[in-house]
Amino acid sequence: MAGLFSKFLGDPNERFLKNLQPLVEEINRLEKKTEGLTNNELKSKTEDFKEFLAKGGLVEDILPEVFSVVREAAKRNLNQRHFDAQILGGIVLHQGKIAEMKTGEGKTLTSTLPVYLNALEGKGVHVVTVNDYLSRRDAVWMGQIYHFLGLSVSCINHDSSYIYDPSFAKEEPQENEIFNFQFPISKQISNSNDQNRLDKIRDTLGSFKVVHEFLKPCSRKEAYAADITYGTNNEFAFDYLRDNMAYQKEQVVQREWHYAIVDEIDSILIDEARTPLIISVPDEESAELYKTFASIVPRLNAEEHYSVDEKQKAVSLTEEGIERVEKLLGIGDIYTEKGMKYVHHLNQALRAHVIFRRDKDYVVRNGEVIIIDEFTGRMMPGRRWSEGLHQAIEAKEGVDIQKESRTLASVTFQNYFKLYKKLSGMTGTALTSAEEFDKVYGLEVVVVPTNKPMIREDNSDLVYAAEEGKIKAVVEEIKERHKKGQPVLVGTVSIDKNEYLSALLKKEGVAHRLLNAKHHEEEGEIIAQAGKKGMVTVATNMAGRGVDIVLGGNPSSADEANDVCSAGGLYVLGTERHEARRIDDQLRGRSGRQGDPGESRFFVSLEDDLMRIFGSDKIKNMMRTLKIPEDQPIENKMITRAIGSAQAKIEGMNFDIRKHLLEYDNVLNKQRGKIYGLRRKALFANKDELGEIITGFFDHAGEDISKLSEKEREFGKEDFANAERNLLLRVIDMLWTDHLEAMDYMRSSVNLRAYGQRDPLIEYKNEGARMFKQMEDSMGDTFVKLILNVQKTQGMKNEESTFRNSKLEIRNSRPKVGRNAPCPCGSGKKYKKCCGK
Ligand code: ADP
Ligand code: MG
Repeated sequence: MAGLFSKFLGDPNERFLKNLQPLVEEINRLEKKTEGLTNNELKSKTEDFKEFLAKGGLVEDILPEVFSVVREAAKRNLNQRHFDAQILGGIVLHQGKIAEMKTGEGKTLTSTLPVYLNALEGKGVHVVTVNDYLSRRDAVWMGQIYHFLGLSVSCINHDSSYIYDPSFAKEEPQENEIFNFQFPISKQISNSNDQNRLDKIRDTLGSFKVVHEFLKPCSRKEAYAADITYGTNNEFAFDYLRDNMAYQKEQVVQREWHYAIVDEIDSILIDEARTPLIISVPDEESAELYKTFASIVPRLNAEEHYSVDEKQKAVSLTEEGIERVEKLLGIGDIYTEKGMKYVHHLNQALRAHVIFRRDKDYVVRNGEVIIIDEFTGRMMPGRRWSEGLHQAIEAKEGVDIQKESRTLASVTFQNYFKLYKKLSGMTGTALTSAEEFDKVYGLEVVVVPTNKPMIREDNSDLVYAAEEGKIKAVVEEIKERHKKGQPVLVGTVSIDKNEYLSALLKKEGVAHRLLNAKHHEEEGEIIAQAGKKGMVTVATNMAGRGVDIVLGGNPSSADEANDVCSAGGLYVLGTERHEARRIDDQLRGRSGRQGDPGESRFFVSLEDDLMRIFGSDKIKNMMRTLKIPEDQPIENKMITRAIGSAQAKIEGMNFDIRKHLLEYDNVLNKQRGKIYGLRRKALFANKDELGEIITGFFDHAGEDISKLSEKEREFGKEDFANAERNLLLRVIDMLWTDHLEAMDYMRSSVNLRAYGQRDPLIEYKNEGARMFKQMEDSMGDTFVKLILNVQKTQGMKNEESTFRNSKLEIRNSRPKVGRNAPCPCGSGKKYKKCCGK
């Protein structure tokens, strides 16, 4: 074991792991005894543990025994025994930290240890995956362990929820059907009663276990009632938002936020952190302005009319540019109060035109502009850029412009995951973002050593002066490796480059599979086959994260695996360095899993975005003075280092941007917590508690509550309580969404004010607090006024909420606040003069 620790680990990390060593040994010592238990005895441990905890026993006290029980259950059900490294990882996860474990180390199995342990408390454990498919895979795969031990397992997907239920399997497996637990679940059906057949399949597949069709559809609420729930970050967070829009307590599906393990945590908490989740309604705002500006912008010239700052992704107009726009619009001065709207549209149209590129930042599909996640290369249907940028891009592409939308509820992943009493995560790449995890989430990163030594060779970069030379070399390299039967996984940074390279390979007659966000349906399956002999796979970065690449492609063909091993294992070829080192590491990590042979290399040119924008002049000058020919690479440690430091610089910049966003979001988050708390109280309050809230409102408004008893007689007790509750929820929702909108406007206005040397964040905090207070005040008053005038004939019947059916956008018939109507913040001023300013 000692050798495991000696590899370049930082001291504190090493010390930390050393301290865990006695615990690992204790768990190992328990193995013999646990092995001796019958199945029934092993199963009955769950009840014993639960009882122990119910009597006030500490989770920590049973950890060793619990881990040994889970390990034994995995041995009996999956033919897999948790490695010591996985036991370590399990402890780290249980402690609410991030376990950095390389790709292929078996994080899925690792997580079963803390998942089961924490689920014993009966408050539900959530396991967060990067996509729906993985949530199903893991629920079924690991479900076998939990189910055996008597815990319930569920899975929430975008439009369905399932409970793990082995008796649900319907069909017989076909003879000779190849079973691979990863794909595709629906086709891999087995009959749980036919134990012989199952065992036979298990024998032929060695340690691999068949995935059965064991997922039985259930309601969302049932899914959340399970001991363990698998699902994506999106589903968990959207359910949270939807729960806070419920009008009947039965509609609330989530329970507690007890403990969550986030798989691929860097992807979710860092890469996806910049787009908040939003539930919105369309707002009637004309699409014409977007069209007008989309037609004006192409008539401006770069440099003369505007300047571009690629680093900051910003465009700004020059004096000439402003004049030109004013002329084209036929208006005198655009920078007046009235013109501000134009400035905003113009700015977004410019960014849409100059900065955002089709097939790199987004794709156009079926008349829709769909964002491509810059880190994962994955399409993100349903997500929209905010502040009109999305509409500006729709105008640029000439597709239908979606109506501006009005936010009903929103949350960032940061803030959603902070709800959990304990949060932990796992990924192969956390260390380079350790500071961010620590500062933003208070999560510590622990590097868990690999089970077997890693023998992949990571070569230093080959740097070319020009893109063309680089690409030629890349094609040559692929051809050569392919010829000797070595599988090659090629990583590209964008879809257009991915397709370009594919075309070149086709011309050269190199058979290959193409994988980008446009074909993400088969993503997992293609990636899983990327280790086959001679296979060439051209993929965008990180496509198929979470899917295992087995050398030889098929777990049962040892011969092919040997061939691939002697050809050098999987060769990962990066065609460009990414902005974040983490993403490069992810790509490299595809190779060399579990002690496999493998190799990686990045090909870089000075024309790559990263080098062009961030690369140091030193490198460029050096290449120039050395007069290096286009197709001659230089391989130089200094350059590789310089690239690394350029990346670190950008990482820092992006971290700052996210931190900044978060600071703003925290203001709103506190307010959201208060409002949702009140809302929940109203939703779940019994008659007396409801009465208390309402009495408070009447006191605050200085109104006499005894009027109300007349209404109560008129309605009948029950109906009136319902009417009160409904109205209260409605008032909260109405004022809260108006408040959200007002905060949005306020935020852009404080940013404009930043010129006056005032810190916009402080302004935002102060102003936000004032507006919130006003909203709280007017909440009671509004309620009192409305309840006194409520008519039975109007039917305050239960609101039939439609939000379960629709996705991101929710239909809502409530009229929008008119510009000239009194401001809902209760200031008495017109909306346009107050919060709507
Ligand atoms: P990761 O998420 O860390 O990349 P996975 O959880 O996908 O890795 O597991 C990778 C492969 O390793 C899977 O095929 C899995 O069955 C196998 N594996 C994991 N743990 C063990 C173990 N203890 N013994 C045998 N095989 C294991
Ligand atoms: Mg994984």
